[in-house]
Amino acid sequence: MNITMLKKLSYDEVAKCNKCGFCLPSCPIYLVEKKESAAPRGRNAITRAIIEGRLELSPETEKSIFSCLGCGACKQVCLSSVETKELIFRDRKCQVSQGLYPKIADRVAAFIEEEHNITDDDNEERGEWQELIRGLPDRAFEKSHAEVVFFVGCVASFFPMAQKIPVNMSRIMQRAEVDFSILGGEEWCCGFPLIGAGMPDKMHGLKEHNLNKVKEVGAKAVVFTCPSCYHTWKHLYEANDIKLYHSSQFIHQLIKDERIRFNEKKMTVTYHDPCDLGRNSGVYEEPRYVLQAIPGLTLIELPHNRQLSMCCGGGGNVEMVNPELSAKVAQMKIDEIKSTGAEMVVSACQQCLRTIATRARKQKIDLVVKDLTELVADAMQ
Ligand code: SF4
Ligand code: SF4
Repeated sequence: MNITMLKKLSYDEVAKCNKCGFCLPSCPIYLVEKKESAAPRGRNAITRAIIEGRLELSPETEKSIFSCLGCGACKQVCLSSVETKELIFRDRKCQVSQGLYPKIADRVAAFIEEEHNITDDDNEERGEWQELIRGLPDRAFEKSHAEVVFFVGCVASFFPMAQKIPVNMSRIMQRAEVDFSILGGEEWCCGFPLIGAGMPDKMHGLKEHNLNKVKEVGAKAVVFTCPSCYHTWKHLYEANDIKLYHSSQFIHQLIKDERIRFNEKKMTVTYHDPCDLGRNSGVYEEPRYVLQAIPGLTLIELPHNRQLSMCCGGGGNVEMVNPELSAKVAQMKIDEIKSTGAEMVVSACQQCLRTIATRARKQKIDLVVKDLTELVADAMQ
């Protein structure tokens, strides 16, 4: 992407920004950094100045453009509905074409190209989390044919803290007698981290591979516990006749079909809307329906919920590029969670779980953080 293309694609959109500043209190990065260059309005001003030739791409513009969480909160409060996140992600492509980007992204891109995952692990070990299920025969969920494919995602496959998510999701599907399979070593990264890195061109091959593998299994549906994989498949894969579900939607359907039932759980929980599930994919209510289906459970909403939810700090590759900044946003999230007085925060995303739980552990904050799948599996009869 060069400046001429950026101008063609972005000028009309960025020109909609009237500099009112309504978006400032909604931007978690601005709330932490308190700098105009870290605000949606400031980033839009940078984009416009670059397009109009008043500003050159530089390490300074790189800092601003790559510190956005991609959370989309700014658009929700913007009366002109400026697509600031989209503008910033386009700017990232431009920064990459000029060699001005966080070089750590090259490592992740190389891992994805060579091993098809973000961690540089042997991709054959993707299904290793199955060993956490006592008594399960080796690779029991890697079947040659199934009605549903469970697409696990890189983080939940390889990060020990998140591996309980696929463990619990498969417990739920086993209990509901869902005919499902995972792709094991044949599941490749969905490509989402490359979008955040400003390198979407490198996604080439990932989409086709994953779609072909799902078709080989003969599945008519794919279920995701990762909102970013779900979002990427939904918006960038041509899945056509394959139904795509986030785990919260899938579990909600299982409850409606009376394929799972719950024991009473007397507790108060609050729910954190993951950005890629809520704002970026429009799934707000299903996770709440699932929570409300558990007898005895009381849901206390966060002050910022649904469209106005505040990012956990784990989005937009910021954790990779600037972990301190990500941690400061996570602290704001924890403070908000604590203000509810709930016994537990539940989310529906492995990255939210990691970001919030890691910050709480490092700061020695007493906080129970669970993925929706864990709570459901625990409450199941
Ligand atoms: S992005 Fe929207 S809310 Fe923010 S300054 Fe521009 S017009 Fe105002
Ligand atoms: S997408 Fe989120 S982090 Fe990025 S400018 Fe908008 S509110 Fe700020």
